[in-house]
Amino acid sequence: MLDTLSRRLWYRDDVIYCLDVETFQDSNGDGIGDFPGLSQRLDYLDSLGVNCLWLLPFYPTVNRDNGYDVTDFYGIDPRLGTLGDFVEFMTRAEDRGIRVIVDLVVNHTSDQHPWFQAARADRESKYHDYYVWKDEKPADADEGVVFPGVQESIWTYDRKARRYYLHRFYEHQPDLNIDNPAVRNEICRIMGFWLKLGISGFRLDAAPFLIELKGIDDPDSDDPLSFLHEFRNFVSFCRGDAILLAEANVPLEKVPDYFGDGDRLHMLFNFLLNQQMFLALAQQRAKPIYEALRDSPPSSEVNQFANFLRNHDELDLGRLTDEQREFVFQQFAPDPDMRLYDRGIRRRLPPMLNGDERRLRMAYSLMFSMPGTPILRYGEEIGMGDDLSLEERDSIRTVMQWSPEEHGGFTSQHVDAGDLPRPAIRKGTYGYLKRNVYEQQRDADSLLNWMRKLIRVRRECPECSFGTCTVLEADDSAVLAHECRLDETAMVSLHNLSDKTKQVEVTFEGDRPRQMTDLLADDGKHWSVNGGSMSVELGPYGFHWFHSRPEN
Ligand code: MG
Repeated sequence: MLDTLSRRLWYRDDVIYCLDVETFQDSNGDGIGDFPGLSQRLDYLDSLGVNCLWLLPFYPTVNRDNGYDVTDFYGIDPRLGTLGDFVEFMTRAEDRGIRVIVDLVVNHTSDQHPWFQAARADRESKYHDYYVWKDEKPADADEGVVFPGVQESIWTYDRKARRYYLHRFYEHQPDLNIDNPAVRNEICRIMGFWLKLGISGFRLDAAPFLIELKGIDDPDSDDPLSFLHEFRNFVSFCRGDAILLAEANVPLEKVPDYFGDGDRLHMLFNFLLNQQMFLALAQQRAKPIYEALRDSPPSSEVNQFANFLRNHDELDLGRLTDEQREFVFQQFAPDPDMRLYDRGIRRRLPPMLNGDERRLRMAYSLMFSMPGTPILRYGEEIGMGDDLSLEERDSIRTVMQWSPEEHGGFTSQHVDAGDLPRPAIRKGTYGYLKRNVYEQQRDADSLLNWMRKLIRVRRECPECSFGTCTVLEADDSAVLAHECRLDETAMVSLHNLSDKTKQVEVTFEGDRPRQMTDLLADDGKHWSVNGGSMSVELGPYGFHWFHSRPEN
């Protein structure tokens, strides 16, 4: 039984869908996705079963980093629509019970942001201290670049200010000075503005960089972790059920810093589990996931991880050992052009798995069965692929494939491909001629219809959201067996990571007779389990989800 508080913790129980307005649906035939286009697709998203959308940055931008170089935090990129269009979209999402969280990119601004322009022009301006400056180039200026291979330094000389400024990311993205209370006040104002427009929270971009004090030599600086508490307090006062979900790819021992005692950030992306899942997929054995689950900090009432397979960036494998990473590279990115920044893979999942749909479904089943909140990225539900001829991370940022029509139905057929943010993938296994929403909606066996079922079943299993996860004993190293238990009921999942059929004996704690219902099989088979174990056959990349309850 869920208690009253748990029922209010919506983010622990939602399925989040991540999209970029620019690449989702164009409504006015200019080749750029927009808010009216997204509004038109809300019924599709509703029917998919997702109940929270995470929007990538949609603010006015120079657009040299996919919108993460913001020039105005209070507006809408005019290519994507107006504030009016945004509010109309919010209203229509709310009508369908779909929440919206938005990217908050306040580690840095664009160098074209009026704050930076004012900061450069006048050292006496209050905006000068919005950024981090040095008169001399620091000795370690070339260390700690986020994009090795395309970025040389984190300190760049500005001729106008005649000083060096800090930029953890590209040189056109100067870092904000978080130690300056005026900057933190601005961040709160920005959050307050969007919360007033009805959003349910923020995905906090680059959180570890946001709260670092690099280059700031202030002996009176507060502990930067207290800034997270400050932001959390502000958000909660504005809107009690709003959340902060942080991009923080940090080692396990740092996780408590971000969660605090339930009084800092609500959620973190589970980068650690993500990398272990890919290692497990590559090695075809369960141990890496087992260890990641074993080492995860126990979830508290308020805090939870968000799980994902692929996001809009490279698949970051930086926390694996060199040997492990090389093995994953060999399995899933054999060509050096498929890799990026010495640490990651710039491919979508289906081509990494050579289009093996059994393995693909097993991978999603695995991710959805993990304790935490599942996140799906646009196009994953139809198995979209990548275009490696595009630079860096653009390979996985092609437009949504709605139909076999020109440009995949993303925009008017009369638009030139060059006017799209990125050209649609047309031909081949993953091109829109073969792979699109329209056709998969009409095919009962399609990935799209299977994904709908997976989402529905997952939403009917509060055990994964609120229960306690335990890895069960299975007598085959390729099979992961785990259960999420909530009082008397449990969700038991079995995943065969290998390409061989496995007959596996799974051992449960205790020996009470239970009834197990197969949740994903079409026949909804019931199994009675007497005693402490059950024997199940799993085909190559096979999986089962059982709902387990005590037998009457
Ligand atoms: Mg448009």
